[in-house]
Amino acid sequence: MDIKKKFGSASFGEDLILQALSCSPEPTSIYTGPEMTIEFANSGMLSVWGKDASVIGKALISAIPELEDQPFLSILQEVWRTGKSYSVKEAPARLIKNGVAVTDYFDYEYRALLDHNNKTWCILNTAHNVTLRRQHQQQIEEKEKKEQGLMEEMAATLEELTATNDELNSSLQLLAESREQVRTIIEQAPVGIAMLKGPELIIDIANPTILKIWGRDLTEVQGLPHETARPELQGQPMIQWIREAFEKGERKINNELSILLHHRDGLRDAVVNSIYQPIFSADNKVTGVLIILEEITDQVLERRKSEKDQQMLSLAIDAGELATFYYEPEVNLFSGNALLKLWFGLSDEDQLDLSAAISSIAEQDQERVMAAITDALSEESDGNYFVEYRIVHPLAPNGRLVQARGKVFYDAKGKAVSLNGTLRDITKQKAEEQRKNDFISIVSHELKTPLTSINAYLQLMQRQAFLTANTNYQDITMKALRQVRNMKNLINGFLNISRFDSGRMIIQREVFDLKELFTELEDEFKLRINSHEIVADLTQSLSINADLNKIAQVVQNLVENAAKYSPLGTQITFGYLATANQDIEIFVSDQGMGIAEEDRDQIFERFYRAGKDRVGTISGFGIGLYLCREIVELHNGHIAVENNSAGGTIFKVRLPAQ
Ligand code: ADP
Repeated sequence: MDIKKKFGSASFGEDLILQALSCSPEPTSIYTGPEMTIEFANSGMLSVWGKDASVIGKALISAIPELEDQPFLSILQEVWRTGKSYSVKEAPARLIKNGVAVTDYFDYEYRALLDHNNKTWCILNTAHNVTLRRQHQQQIEEKEKKEQGLMEEMAATLEELTATNDELNSSLQLLAESREQVRTIIEQAPVGIAMLKGPELIIDIANPTILKIWGRDLTEVQGLPHETARPELQGQPMIQWIREAFEKGERKINNELSILLHHRDGLRDAVVNSIYQPIFSADNKVTGVLIILEEITDQVLERRKSEKDQQMLSLAIDAGELATFYYEPEVNLFSGNALLKLWFGLSDEDQLDLSAAISSIAEQDQERVMAAITDALSEESDGNYFVEYRIVHPLAPNGRLVQARGKVFYDAKGKAVSLNGTLRDITKQKAEEQRKNDFISIVSHELKTPLTSINAYLQLMQRQAFLTANTNYQDITMKALRQVRNMKNLINGFLNISRFDSGRMIIQREVFDLKELFTELEDEFKLRINSHEIVADLTQSLSINADLNKIAQVVQNLVENAAKYSPLGTQITFGYLATANQDIEIFVSDQGMGIAEEDRDQIFERFYRAGKDRVGTISGFGIGLYLCREIVELHNGHIAVENNSAGGTIFKVRLPAQ
């Protein structure tokens, strides 16, 4: 081939150019013709091919047969035909070097060199083996890929880790919260709780309640073995039970257990309910013992006391031969103890409705008993029940006189739940009293006859003394007559008592003017009582429907008492007034010794007299006020006493006007 001709310059001779190409470090070859005859190949290209210079001049495929089933020849032929150069990067080429097939990678170019007819006259092939670079790059890529993968994995792991961490944090917080909750629950538990850990039973937790029961401070016991911290338990069985709970893993429950507990510097008796509960780990091993303790000393003592009280009460009931009863208005049931059942003729298991019980009561008393029960249960009542009546039933035809006392019990809303009480057999006592009253009545009657005679004789003597103007005898007979009247009053008092008791005292009502009665009484008192200043407080006329003589008797009694129990020369005021609700109040007030608080209710009892230090030598039998009260109550009235501002007493009698 005439290269010099083709390049058209003598200075770039064919040899020079080929020499230059030979020296080029770039593997280079030149092909011509459709068979791609190798016109030139420098050593670089020969080493790429793994062939020697003998390939020069040979068609490409015969020189390098392994290229046959590879695309190079067809690409070269296309470049040859079209005159369009072709270049590619990192294209693989399978070659046989030193008898070994290798695949290398090349950046190569097929440059078409054109003649002046624009026809390809040769192809310049440059190739650059990039196998190593490619491998390197691939390695880098792989590394990068790996790194990327790792990074991604790491990021994912990190994310997971963060999530896990968050979860862990919130679980930790939950755990802390629930621990705090458990701690608070234990701290505030109304029962004593302690946790003992390990075989030594070290006190790990002890709440304030258990410390109080133990009589110890937390600092004294925490962190110490239970037995060391509480030496007071030596010789008591709990030590063994707690040890057994740990060793055998069995729970021990004790009810109402008596125990000696540490108290100040000594010991105290206590009663407790306790539970010793083994604590198990996840692998079912006992790790400690939980103690739950409740002190019930007060409740047990209270219960024992009330059992004792109950026993004492039954004893008293038995000893006093009392029948007990209860009546429940809601269900209308009436029952009681064995004695009550015996008295009412009930069989042992009987519970009666009230009307059946009432039918065992003497007919004349039934209405009164019903009224007393209704009164006690009524809302206005103070809940006290007191009544005397006779029980009659076939087994006791003569009847049994009983005195019933009771009290109403209310529920939280103030509703009457039951009427409970006792019955006392007063048959004998009443008979005794009757005999006494009969005796008093007989004696009083017997005394009255001679007294009437004495009175008559004295009046005769007095008249005689006036006729003879014997002032000495006038005075003596006046005093004697006064004593006779006093005695008559006394005897009348006794007679009245027996009348009351036998129910023979009757009220004879009439309408009269109090002003008239009180004016008469004022005259009488002023005539009779010259030891005191009598003041009548009579403002207006007031009419009343009552037994005139008995009302007069009440006022006389009260005024005479006032004179008896107050110093000479002091004032006694008596009078009446109309109250706001149209009742009438009669009052008698003195400036005497007054009545002690504790005597005030009792002075109206029969034969009751205030303590000797008060009445001293003042004579009396304690029946005046009793009679007053009976008369007032027969009028449906009420009598009471208070101390007045002068330090004396004021008796107030309240009576309905009609
Ligand atoms: P008696 O006067 O016969 O003892 P009463 O039944 O009249 O009996 O009185 C009962 C008791 O009440 C008296 O013993 C007296 O202690 C006390 N008493 C009555 N009236 C008065 C009074 N006006 N002042 C002080 N004490 C009185």
